[in-house]
Amino acid sequence: MHTFLTIKETQNWLLNLKKQGKTIGFVPTMGALHQGHLSLIERSNNENDISVLSIFVNPLQFNEKSDLDKYPRTIKQDIDKLKSVHCDVLFAPSTEEIYPAQGLGGEEKQSPLYNLGGLDTLMEGLHRPGHFQGVCVVVKKLFDIIKPTKAYFGEKDFQQLVIIRHMVKTLELPVKIIPCPIVRESDGLAMSSRNVLLKAEERKNASQIYATLSSAKEKRKSSSVTDIKKWVEIQINKTPFLKLEYFEIVNSETLSPVQTWEEATCLRACVAVKAGAVRLIDNIAI
Ligand code: AMP
Repeated sequence: MHTFLTIKETQNWLLNLKKQGKTIGFVPTMGALHQGHLSLIERSNNENDISVLSIFVNPLQFNEKSDLDKYPRTIKQDIDKLKSVHCDVLFAPSTEEIYPAQGLGGEEKQSPLYNLGGLDTLMEGLHRPGHFQGVCVVVKKLFDIIKPTKAYFGEKDFQQLVIIRHMVKTLELPVKIIPCPIVRESDGLAMSSRNVLLKAEERKNASQIYATLSSAKEKRKSSSVTDIKKWVEIQINKTPFLKLEYFEIVNSETLSPVQTWEEATCLRACVAVKAGAVRLIDNIAI
C-alpha cells in the first residue's frame, strides 16, 4: 500500500493510472478504522481497479473543539488494517495540506458554500449547525484531488449520504456515489470510531439503540408514526446512561419527517442518542 501525505504525491501517482483508463474507488474517512470502514474498501476493491482511502479528521465539521480533540486517532493500527484488506492507497493529509490559507478553514467556515436544499437543516443539522457544510467542503476538496470514478459512503451516516448525493447532483460532479450497508457489532450496535470512547456500562446499554430501532420497525404494522415516536423516546430514556436527542421517521429521499405511513414509500427511522458524553447515531429502513 502506498501512503501519501501530500496532494501532489497522490495526484502524481494517480495520474498515470487515469491515463491508462483505470477506475478509482474512493472511501473518505476520519480514521480510527473498523470493519464498517473496511467493508467500504472491500466493496471498492470489487468494483474498481484501484482503491484509495483518505484519513482526515476535518476540523470544519466539528461543532465543539473538545469533540475534535478527543476524536480517536490510531494511524498505526489503521495502516495495518488497510494492508490486510489490500487497499492500494492511503491519503492522510495534514490540516494545512487541505486548508492552506488559515489552517482551520478560516473563511470557509463563515458562510455556507453549498445550497443543500434544506437537507442540512433537519435532524443532525439542527443539533450540529454548520456540520454538513463542513462535510461538503472537505468531500468536494477530496473529490477534486482524487477524481474518483466511484465514492463509497456508509448508510450509518444516512443524512450525510443523502446530502453528498444532492451535492454531486447539483454540482454535476463526475462521480458515482455508492451507498453501503451499516456494519454492526454482535449485539447490534452500529460500528463507530466513537464507540471506543464509551465507558463499560454505557457500551453495554448502547445496544438498546438498535434493539429499539428494530422493535420500532416491527411496530410499524400495528402502530401510528406518532405512537412509535413516543414509544422510542420512552424506551431510550428509560435505559440507564442513554438520553434521546431526536428520533425521526423520514422520507428516505427528501429527509422530510412524515406524520403518517402513507406519506412516502421509502422511509427511514433515524436516531441520535447521548450515551454518557458520547453522541451516537443510527438508523433503519422502516
Ligand atoms: P467516518 O470515519 O466516521 O467519517 O466514516 C467514514 C465512512 O465510513 C462514512 O461513509 C461512514 O458512513 C462509513 N461508516 C462508518 N461507520 C460505518 C458502519 N458501521 N457501517 C458502514 N459504514 C460505516
